[in-house]
Amino acid sequence: MPRAMSYFTQLLEGGYEAVHLLSDSKSGLRAIVGMHNTRLGPGLGGTRALATYASEEEAVADALRLARGMTYKAALAGVPHGGGKAVIMLPRGSFDREKIFESFGRAVESLGGRYITTEDSGTSPDDMEHVRRHTKYVVGLKERSGDPSPVTAYGVARAMEATAKHVFGSPDLKGLRVTVLGVGHVGMYLVKELHQRGAKVWVSDINPASVQHAVTQYGVTAVDADALHRMEADIYAPCALGGAINDTTLSLLNVKAVCGAANNQLLTSRHGEQLARRGILYVPDYAANAGGLINVAQEWAGYDRDKAYARTSLIFDTIDTVLTRAKESGLRPEQVADRMVEERLAG
Ligand code: NAD
Repeated sequence: MPRAMSYFTQLLEGGYEAVHLLSDSKSGLRAIVGMHNTRLGPGLGGTRALATYASEEEAVADALRLARGMTYKAALAGVPHGGGKAVIMLPRGSFDREKIFESFGRAVESLGGRYITTEDSGTSPDDMEHVRRHTKYVVGLKERSGDPSPVTAYGVARAMEATAKHVFGSPDLKGLRVTVLGVGHVGMYLVKELHQRGAKVWVSDINPASVQHAVTQYGVTAVDADALHRMEADIYAPCALGGAINDTTLSLLNVKAVCGAANNQLLTSRHGEQLARRGILYVPDYAANAGGLINVAQEWAGYDRDKAYARTSLIFDTIDTVLTRAKESGLRPEQVADRMVEERLAG
């Protein structure tokens, strides 16, 4: 049984609790729920759906890696949840999307609340409506906490204020030059937050309509991605895909700090080391972009928008602590954030 052995090795070495393989022959559902660490509360994390993976092993590895990320994000944000994440593989042959999500709802219910799901890339609020027909363990519903993007953007703006305090001596973003890569759901709301705070903003996006909207609504300046990366600015905010800090962009960046919404901004940890060597402060992505998680966790506790925003505002304090400890210890901010999580999980 070499495959089973390798799964257990993967679980043990990564500190994972479980991997659930959930299937339904009627709908064609093939779903994986990865569970990392639920010491602080039930696993809470989104469902990535209908993705094409080269193999089942690759899908399992993705669910586990993403679940681990949720453990860290929740623990650092002080959210009483652990790490869980689901992946629904593209069914073989034709399928009925509604039935897939209904059967996924039954599968989530069968886990008895150890895992609470929500929307993620590849899933929509409508999919979650189908999921909720068969389980109570789902959040991010349309008429409850709704779209997490505005709260995520608010949290990133708070993270930038803490960054500005450390790098420029004041949390005031007025007059600071901020470059934003990706003005989608979160990036556009971030531009709004920055506009309200009087920052000078440059944006780039592969979608011209989004760029145009940012220009007309918030008076930002549009540039192409290459120019954006080369610009002399104060803070760079990656808000598109993961891996924004890579060999190409590292050599171009001319900013004092990186603080954005995208997940997994550092292509590898080596890129974090190189940023630090270049004197660019990196704000750990999972600390800055926790607002969306805080928002759905608030839904689980009983949704109150004001409470969700008040808790998200505390991202300022988290980043302040991370950056203070980094300065004192000589460690990089992402190393400090990981240590803070590990202390909370051990405590
Ligand atoms: P989105 O798809 O709405 O926006 C992404 C934007 O990036 C789009 O406008 C897209 O056109 C643009 N883009 C893609 N590739 C690009 C490229 N090469 N150059 C320039 N622009 C490019 O996604 P979103 O919900 O705004 O999320 C953005 C990032 O933030 C993702 O990494 C996501 O995982 C992360 N995040 C989102 C939330 C949330 O609440 N939505 C929460 C935490 C983290």
